[in-house]
Amino acid sequence: MKILIISTPVQAIGQGEGGGIDITLLNIINALSPLGHQFTVLAPTGSKLSADATLIEISGRLQTSVQTESASTPATMSHDSTIVSMCRYAQTHQDQFDVILNMAYDWLPIWLTTFFTTPIHHLVSMSNENQTVADAIEELNRMMPQRIAFHSHASANTFQLENPVTIIANGFEFTNFPFCKSPKQQLAWVGRISPEKGLENALEVANKVNLPLHIWGKVQSESYQQQLVEKFPEVDIHWRGFVPQQQLLKEMSQSALMLMTPSWIEAFGNNVVEANACGVPVIAYNKGGPTETVISGVTGYLVENNEDMANRVADALKLSRYHCRDSAQQRFSIEQYALKLQSWLSLNID
Ligand code: UDP
Repeated sequence: MKILIISTPVQAIGQGEGGGIDITLLNIINALSPLGHQFTVLAPTGSKLSADATLIEISGRLQTSVQTESASTPATMSHDSTIVSMCRYAQTHQDQFDVILNMAYDWLPIWLTTFFTTPIHHLVSMSNENQTVADAIEELNRMMPQRIAFHSHASANTFQLENPVTIIANGFEFTNFPFCKSPKQQLAWVGRISPEKGLENALEVANKVNLPLHIWGKVQSESYQQQLVEKFPEVDIHWRGFVPQQQLLKEMSQSALMLMTPSWIEAFGNNVVEANACGVPVIAYNKGGPTETVISGVTGYLVENNEDMANRVADALKLSRYHCRDSAQQRFSIEQYALKLQSWLSLNID
């Protein structure tokens, strides 16, 4: 298939701002390229892409991330919005492609679905965070359910969907994932430093169990970071910043365990599988994507609150790091992911 990807209109890709969407995009291309599929990727000006794909930079006004606004905020776009230009490019060049894959969590490309002659499929990267986007997803699920896929059942369940949906999960190329059998007595937390990622919860747990907390990820809100530093003066915090993924895995794999403490409903949570695949157990809340990735008692624990999380730390430290690694690598291989993606994307091709 010749596949056109609409990536994200929120930030340039390959710069750390995109978080999961950057990694998911790379995983999709790396999964499907070996099967002979070819990619063209639309991304905002300034993007970088180290994958086997043609990158087309699209200039224009960037969209605001929906999670920074209230759920009732309407879709706002002007003639010079990046998402408008991406949709226009897709519409005028659609004859050159077999299928269009939209990864943007935006109303416009979803609403335009029936206006395209080349099938456009939507991979929904977040749970229900905005009413206008949710309305478009729910309407499309009534009309053309095959066109939408989610990363987890938990994420799909945040929408009012009448028809069955496709669950794609995520898949990873594990060949270069590091493994450390004798970790340091430190906790890891990975994510964008932004309120929906709930870093304060991990700090509360680190405080209760009196272990240092190493934090990787882009600071998206400096005021939020500052509030946390002031609120938890007694926690031994190590800010490691945003680092390229290979470096992240190398450094993070030396941690005794990872805490996953989002305030929102995480659509998937790449970090859980990445940590497990490096042998690091994960304790996560019993909600969202981690309920489908963490196997309690094998690759970590699912807990209801911060107190339970602190109480589970000692048990999680005893889990076999070999079992964590093997379980994650078996369940989320790039080969299985490629087959799921390929069958979903080819559903509407004549
Ligand atoms: N990541 C990275 N370097 C960092 C921190 C994070 O490459 O310093 C990557 C990490 O490997 C993961 C992604 O960013 O794949 C974050 O994805 P996730 O789904 O956990 O969160 P999102 O940012 O999409 O909410």
